[in-house]
Amino acid sequence: MAYSQSLNELISALSKLPGVGRKSAQRIAYHIVTSEKDYVKSLADAIMLARERTNYCAVCNDMTEDEICPICLSPKRDRSVICVVAEPKDVLAIEKTKEYKGLYHVLGGLISPMDGIGPEDISVSKLIGRITPEVTEVILATGLNVEGETTAMYIARMLSPLGVKTSRIAMGIPAGSELEYADEATIANALEGRREI
Ligand code: ZN
Repeated sequence: MAYSQSLNELISALSKLPGVGRKSAQRIAYHIVTSEKDYVKSLADAIMLARERTNYCAVCNDMTEDEICPICLSPKRDRSVICVVAEPKDVLAIEKTKEYKGLYHVLGGLISPMDGIGPEDISVSKLIGRITPEVTEVILATGLNVEGETTAMYIARMLSPLGVKTSRIAMGIPAGSELEYADEATIANALEGRREI
């Protein structure tokens, strides 16, 4: 079956979305071109608006619509603990547990020599700049896969001269899995069972 050029372009754009294969892209594209124009316009507008309004917090790099995110600004958060995660979606996963009351630091990736990602490509120096005497513990909550472990070990080494306690989330989460796929109880247990490194 031959698609028109515009439909083909839509399919190829959609198939670049994470988790969307060629078949799903075709199905979504077909749904879009057969939908009401008002709905399609609101969908396109919502995509543009979300993209335009999304920034990264100047302090912790989490996604936010403001200069500084609500967590960094909140007087209710415990400023003595910083939880280090790879991506903004990990903040969301930990927040869902409602157990953690400290601050976050989003690295924006993990060290991965295979993919050419080194320590200078993630937000480590900014994290080091955040270690004031007020901060007593840094929890390394990067995933328990190879990249997550490598990154955690590297950061622990960089932080050790600063005299801040560093801890690693427990092995409650199956090795190799990412935080976003773990349920809330598992994440809460992994945080609770963290050990000093
Ligand atoms: Zn923030």
